[in-house]
Amino acid sequence: MSESNVIVSNEPWKKPLPNIDKDNEEFYEGLKQHKFLVWRCKTCGASYWPKAYCINHENEPFAANMEWAPASGRGKIFAFNRHHMAFHPAFKDELPYVYALIELDEGPLVSSTLVGAKMPKDVYDVGQKVEVVYEDHPAEGFTLPRFRIVD
Ligand SMILES: [Zn+2]
Repeated sequence: MSESNVIVSNEPWKKPLPNIDKDNEEFYEGLKQHKFLVWRCKTCGASYWPKAYCINHENEPFAANMEWAPASGRGKIFAFNRHHMAFHPAFKDELPYVYALIELDEGPLVSSTLVGAKMPKDVYDVGQKVEVVYEDHPAEGFTLPRFRIVD
C-alpha cells in the first residue's frame, strides 16, 4: 500500500476525540503506523473488530488465543448513509458526508466516513470495493481510518 493512502490533517481537531482505551489502544497504535489491525484468533484465524471472543471455540481463554494482526485494509461497502445534517457542529463544513459500514475482506464490519472523489450514490453502489486511508492528526497525536472507493 502506497503513502498516497495517508492524509495529513493540520486542521485543529474540534470533533469528539476517539475513545481510546485499553481494549483498542493497540488498534490506534497500529493506525499511527499506517496498519489496520484486526483482532485475530490464533487457533482458527477468524478475525474480529472490535475485540471479541472467537465464536468457533468460545470456551478457550480470551487473551491467550487472540492477538491484533494486520489486515489488508480492503473491503467493500456493506451499507451507507449520506448525512445532510451534522450531529456535531464540527461536521458542518463537511456536509453532506457519507458514513459507511465497511465489510473488511477479513470479515469484520467497521464504520467510517468515506473520502475521495468517488462517493456511493444509490443502492447499486453497495458492494463497491474500498480501501483504508489513514488520516494523521499530528498535533493531537492520533490517526483515524477513512475509506475510499477503488476501481
Ligand atoms: Zn477461533
